[in-house]
Amino acid sequence: MPDQECTEQGSTLITGIGELVTNDGDRGGFAAMTDAALVIAEGKVAWAGPASRAPAADAVVDAAGRAVLPGFADSHAHLVFAGERSAEFAARMAGRPYRAGGILVTVEATRAASDAVLRANLRRLAAEMLRQGTTTFECKSGYGLTVPDEARGLALAAEVTAEVTYLGAHVVPPEFAADPAGYVDLVCGPMLDACAPSARWVDVFCEDGAFGADEAAAILAAGRAAGLGARVHANQLGPGPGARVAAEAGAASADHCTFLTDADVDALVSAQVVATLLPGAEFGTRQPFPDARRLLNAGATVALATDCNPGSSFTSSMPFCVALAVREMGMTTEEAVWAATAGGARALRRTDIGHLGAGARGDLILLDAPSHAYLAYRPGVPQVAAVWQAGRLVAGTGSLAARA
Ligand SMILES: [Zn+2]
Repeated sequence: MPDQECTEQGSTLITGIGELVTNDGDRGGFAAMTDAALVIAEGKVAWAGPASRAPAADAVVDAAGRAVLPGFADSHAHLVFAGERSAEFAARMAGRPYRAGGILVTVEATRAASDAVLRANLRRLAAEMLRQGTTTFECKSGYGLTVPDEARGLALAAEVTAEVTYLGAHVVPPEFAADPAGYVDLVCGPMLDACAPSARWVDVFCEDGAFGADEAAAILAAGRAAGLGARVHANQLGPGPGARVAAEAGAASADHCTFLTDADVDALVSAQVVATLLPGAEFGTRQPFPDARRLLNAGATVALATDCNPGSSFTSSMPFCVALAVREMGMTTEEAVWAATAGGARALRRTDIGHLGAGARGDLILLDAPSHAYLAYRPGVPQVAAVWQAGRLVAGTGSLAARA
């Protein structure tokens, strides 16, 4: 593919952009310009501005009036697993009880799987994400729940992303059912020691039936002492202490946030914890969606992520999450696209992604549509025409590029 080689070696001008979403305005939120152009060089955005003032470059892509967005930053995904749970989903949708369901089914399948099976599954999902415009994704462990299985999951995740999260505290595994405190000690001790070298983050599922406030705080403190940043699965299934624990731990993000009190919202806002909303989970479990409007009105920073996992949310599609957020959660199209790009970057404490200002990483999407609004306006329709990651065309058609 000569066009692709050309774009890899020199600078690329993308011009004729109908709408360029930069998220690079003075006020810090969604920002876009029309009739725009953008230059990528050496893996980064070198210039963005009006098409009429665009500098020359080694190669030119004519966007033909279509929209260009920052690549999506999916800050919450569980991709290291084996097996699938479609029968559990179908039973849930049919209103039938399904006894053999749940996280532990995936734990059993994951423990039994070879490295090769787990790696192939992970790479297939990562490729699926990239084709849909996700240029950065976070990946958690949490289906191993033994020292070697958690360490293996994180080492595999580190092969495909820098945003690796240790989630030994996903659930208490059956062999510790009679001794949950012993499992917390393992998570905070030998398991953490084995996992911290591969991880950037520590996460805990703080919920009834998983880990309580004191256990979650201890796990986050141990992770932070090992140099990991904190994130929390909070307030997904009902009211609880998760959001408060996240705020007190200085977590980057509290994820789910479906059942929040006013005090929870205040705590997230004042501690500057990103509220990461995962509408795929509510879709997949037929639960009420989180109230994004309430969080935004309170001044919270909101991110959107897929929660991609084989149980509650087996979608890898950020466009689907944007559509749900607009239709079901009170977000404008601008807010939802910001949350899926810059919001995800904030949830990962990254300043190099989620926007297309000069100096940003060259992570961008060419939509087969004239504006970002089409992501929600045409739900379920594949509209990602091309994807660049660190300045390289990595998905979509190279025939878009023409020699200057
Ligand atoms: Zn999750």
